[in-house]
Amino acid sequence: MEKINGTLNYNRVSYEDFKNHDGEIVNIVGYIHRIREMTGFSFVIIRTERDTIQCVYAPEFSTYRWDEKLCEEASVSVTGKVASSKDAKGNDRYELQIHDIKILSLPAENLPIVINKKQLDGIQLNTILDLRPISMRNPRERAIFKIQEGIARGFREYLSQNGFTEVRSPKINFAGAEGGTNVFKLDYFGKEVYLAQSPQLYKQALVGVYQRVFEIAPVFRAEHHDTSRHLNEYTSMDFEMGFIESFYDIMNMETGVLKYIMNLLKTEYKNEVELLHAEIPEITEIPVIKFMDAKDIIINKFKYQPTDMKDFDPSEEEMLGKYAKKEFNSDFIFVTHYPSKKRPFYTMDDPENPEYTLSFDLLFRGLEITSGGQRVHDYNEQVAKMKKLGMDPEQFATYLMLHKYGAPPHGGLGLGLERLTMHLLGFKNVREATMFPRDINRVTP
Ligand code: ATP
Ligand code: MG
Repeated sequence: MEKINGTLNYNRVSYEDFKNHDGEIVNIVGYIHRIREMTGFSFVIIRTERDTIQCVYAPEFSTYRWDEKLCEEASVSVTGKVASSKDAKGNDRYELQIHDIKILSLPAENLPIVINKKQLDGIQLNTILDLRPISMRNPRERAIFKIQEGIARGFREYLSQNGFTEVRSPKINFAGAEGGTNVFKLDYFGKEVYLAQSPQLYKQALVGVYQRVFEIAPVFRAEHHDTSRHLNEYTSMDFEMGFIESFYDIMNMETGVLKYIMNLLKTEYKNEVELLHAEIPEITEIPVIKFMDAKDIIINKFKYQPTDMKDFDPSEEEMLGKYAKKEFNSDFIFVTHYPSKKRPFYTMDDPENPEYTLSFDLLFRGLEITSGGQRVHDYNEQVAKMKKLGMDPEQFATYLMLHKYGAPPHGGLGLGLERLTMHLLGFKNVREATMFPRDINRVTP
């Protein structure tokens, strides 16, 4: 009887590992990214999982002879000898002198777009999105989502190292987390249910169990507008922590997370960062400003008259981004003490001035990427606040179990993965930083 022991014996070598195999015969697998015929030899660029590797076909390298069926996007297994040289900057560079190419699969048709240029030149975003399964094969497009992986990975790693438990909360719920108009309704065996707008109520319940929890998962917002920074489904990186001394603990934790992420990108995602010309921010400290002081700056420094004194419009966020850069040389700025009227029912009011809350947003290069804050933990206080807002505490009986049976001072935040990716890479549209965006006009592919 055959037995499986969990080991794959491929003996494949990644490009990173070529330096340890100089002069040796190795095997790689990938797509034929491009073929360039020269006189007497050909360059065959193989696209592996993260690199493009230059391979050279010449009759003198081996007895292998060129197969006319070889074409772009053919899946191949290439065996050859690693040869080192120097690039224009004097760095070591490796190529493979082809000894054999085995065709594993051939495409049925040619690609409808050119993907083997540096970037997808002159192709409209809509076309790129329509063709995502193949447009992402372009190395630059592919790098965007590798960077995004790095962000989520950094978030997970840092919090895991800091005593957080990773959790998963349900996305089909009987009651909407924060209520409001932007919830998707769903027919659930004849009952009306909602798609989760946030893991808020569940992550709070889990603070009662694990003290510190985080989740990286999709959330759904039925935004009816078509903007460059809103999606109908996005990835929320959430954390919630118990036993805080003040809501500044949450901001400190987020600052630690962001430092870790940026460092991870600079080290382990260096090639992608270079390919995308991404400017990775240096974070030492993040400046903090109170909401009303921020409004003051907008009115007096930027001579702008806000229409809403309880929130910022996008242009105000941009002004605050400029202010943070100019005054503090920071790409980030925390704005704290948002008006109670604009924050959800679970937000703790500032005991010194209950018109404002112990909450914050984090702006990155002039765009909100995070909302967070301290939550109400006292049962009577939470029930009273719900009633004041016209909510029925009975409907939130499960949620209120946390408070009723003992909750520590706690708080947390939600960080939009696509928004952070978008501004890190200098994109104008959040869709560029979303693999398969869902918006008012798009549910495919
Ligand atoms: P905005 O005011 O920009 O519409 P919000 O305050 O409604 O955002 P929150 O509920 O505070 O959003 O969500 C927390 C974070 O999730 C935001 O700071 C942002 O990074 C991200 N986010 C919120 N809504 C969306 C969306 N529709 N598409 C993409 N990301 C979003
Ligand atoms: Mg917000």
